[in-house]
Amino acid sequence: VRWDKDTGWHDAAVTPYGPIALDPAAAVLHYGQEIFEGIKAYRHADGSIWTFRPEANGARLQRSARRLALPELPVDIFVESLKQITAVDKDWVSDADEASLYFRPFMIGDEAFLGVRGAHKASFYVIASPAGPYFAKGVAPVAIWLSTDYARAAKGGTGAAKCGGNYAASLLPQQQAQAQGCSQVLFLDPVEGKYLEELGGMNVFLVYGKTNTLVTPALSGSILEGITRESLLQLARDRGMTVEERKVTIDEWKQGVSSGEITEVFACGTAAVITPIGQLKGEGFSVGDLSAPAGEVTMSLRKELTDIQYGRQPDRHGWLVRLDG
Ligand code: PMP
Repeated sequence: VRWDKDTGWHDAAVTPYGPIALDPAAAVLHYGQEIFEGIKAYRHADGSIWTFRPEANGARLQRSARRLALPELPVDIFVESLKQITAVDKDWVSDADEASLYFRPFMIGDEAFLGVRGAHKASFYVIASPAGPYFAKGVAPVAIWLSTDYARAAKGGTGAAKCGGNYAASLLPQQQAQAQGCSQVLFLDPVEGKYLEELGGMNVFLVYGKTNTLVTPALSGSILEGITRESLLQLARDRGMTVEERKVTIDEWKQGVSSGEITEVFACGTAAVITPIGQLKGEGFSVGDLSAPAGEVTMSLRKELTDIQYGRQPDRHGWLVRLDG
């Protein structure tokens, strides 16, 4: 779907996959005017195809657009675009266990000019890719690396937007994490450097087993407002857990795991749903035991959310939207 300042959104079309022609002076290539989303389609046992809370992704895309001086795409066009891609070939949505069709909606400023300002032309695209189960060999705890050299976001910056630039800034810390044998990087707040924010591509949760409490960093203005995060908070409240969105220091994590008060830690996002975190490592320290199995709360929340997504449990919050038929 194209946009320009005079005519607004127009020319929606489904076209064969292929390269995009861009003017070498297009705004996206010089000023990083790009935002995106990640959302999946799931096949239910009766063959029907559904997606999860697309209005929430559509609304987040609008917030990202505002921050990046891009035009806001109406949420109904966002949802319709997922339906139209699904209609091209229903076989793209596999019926294998925990398989899905992953959609990558994105928007770029593609007006050609060299002065620094928001583009007066933009394009919204959706590409799709079949995805197998995230954990092919069963859900396994991972190690994560605490980055103290870099922050993911700045105060007043773009941390709460899902824009390519945030990920560009996290690639080097992510490489460092991998060099330390960790699968993801954990970032602290950009102001004091002591409060948890999130991983490179997931939000983070601590479970206090004895008090049946689930804790996650409050939305600070620099954390991405994850849709999985919000859904898990709801499911935890539904099952009577105490839920706290607040500031969490890195020392609280280290001490809580060492003292046994924190019984489980996990990360969440659309791609993996929930990933258990077995170990936290950083410059000169390591807490947790990577060989311990994933915790009970982690696994039962993961099962409940995937059961809703795959239609194995009633959708009591009205989160699913049908994409076919
Ligand atoms: N934080 C970051 C930085 C992410 O890239 C993602 C993935 N979109 C998340 C959190 C989780 O968000 P969601 O649950 O909406 O996938």
